[in-house]
Amino acid sequence: MTKKLFDEAKKRIPGGVNSPVRAFKAVTGTPLFINKASGPYLYDSKDKKYLDYVGSWGPMILGHAHPEIVKAVNDAAKCGLSFGAPTEIETQMANKICDLMPSIEKIRMVNSGTEAAMSAIRLARGYTGRDIIIKFEGCYHGHTDSLLVKAGSGALTFGVPTSPGVPTDLAKYTVTLTYNDIHQLQDAFEKIGNKVAAVIIEPIAGNMSLVPGNQEFLNTLRELCNKHQSVLIFDEVMTGFRVALGGAQSIFNITPDITILGKIIGGGMPVGAFGGKENIMNHIAPDGPIYQAGTLSGNPVAMSAGLTTLNLISSEGFFNSLEHKTKILVDGITESAKKIGVPLAMNYVGGMFGLFFTSEKTIDSFEKVINCNKEHYNIFFHGMLEEGIYLAPSSYEAGFVSSSHSDDDIKLTIDTAEKIFKKIN
Ligand SMILES: *Cc1c(COP(=O)(O)O)cnc(C)c1O
Repeated sequence: MTKKLFDEAKKRIPGGVNSPVRAFKAVTGTPLFINKASGPYLYDSKDKKYLDYVGSWGPMILGHAHPEIVKAVNDAAKCGLSFGAPTEIETQMANKICDLMPSIEKIRMVNSGTEAAMSAIRLARGYTGRDIIIKFEGCYHGHTDSLLVKAGSGALTFGVPTSPGVPTDLAKYTVTLTYNDIHQLQDAFEKIGNKVAAVIIEPIAGNMSLVPGNQEFLNTLRELCNKHQSVLIFDEVMTGFRVALGGAQSIFNITPDITILGKIIGGGMPVGAFGGKENIMNHIAPDGPIYQAGTLSGNPVAMSAGLTTLNLISSEGFFNSLEHKTKILVDGITESAKKIGVPLAMNYVGGMFGLFFTSEKTIDSFEKVINCNKEHYNIFFHGMLEEGIYLAPSSYEAGFVSSSHSDDDIKLTIDTAEKIFKKIN
């Protein structure tokens, strides 16, 4: 039946999906079609229940269809869906985010993480009057042209597009470096530092499974950006309000110039944002000359979902409890793998985890991630799915725990993982 739904979808939607990872290409097979969700559970088109560790790729930190968020959305919708004029809730949202993330002095709402990244890069280029941006291999910042670029033949040679449709002439302004490699970073700044408009980085990378940045590496990055007057952009679309209430920047105690946000700040609605130092943000239209706009940006329904989410996760002890759940899960799965003799390493921070089929002890680079055993991941993924546990359909994606996952849910996951590890070994 799912196959039939997927075939129908493929007739009118490219690949049958509206975002490629949903198509199960990496793990093969047919994606689930989801009918509804509640708390930590998804229900597919056959009403089979799954314990969900994808959480819509991050936003569902309170579990699905949280009653207070649903109520906030309903209440807002009754008063109108969008006005294209200022509303008070946009100011409340801005205040809330600035309170939780003090590096952000002014913020503008957009509709996705991609849009936030695109706008932040334009702002950094306009503000500095420079064109070059630096990014890191393994980080993902959405699908805007300047960021769908990989390193050319050498780190400092012209970047090359990773997708047809991205002009080569544009890609040459993007330099791609190795994540967590301090020497290469220093070398790059020595050579081209005075031309770098911005460095964009996931301070904790969540798009090569989960790989935390190294403190010394990030400190060095901050210093180099200061020295060369380049704008440091932290992409916290995934980690913002997920790894800690103050995001990854609060863990490393580093103040970026601009932060981009998404996922959790929309509470499940399509929302993104970019914000940072007031003197930089003041260059955006209408105060400044750098153009940026959005018909539905800051619309009241999305703001209600996001603000309610942020208020709920600001409660005392929320993140201690979330991280504790993640730790129990990670320790349990790691222990089970060891018992069965399956080589496995795991990383976790706050409500996020990464699972690596490898005999490496620490996973701190993109290279180590791509050398993990994908076959093992695929067996694990399908084994877990069969047992009603929904993990990301790709070994390059992180896992997400929500506050609605109970101790029993986590125990069930560990026991099931142990059962599936036996199929691998
Ligand atoms: C998801 C994500 C994006 C893109 O956000 P969209 O809303 O999918 O456009 C950008 N950066 C990071 C780190 C992300 O995880």
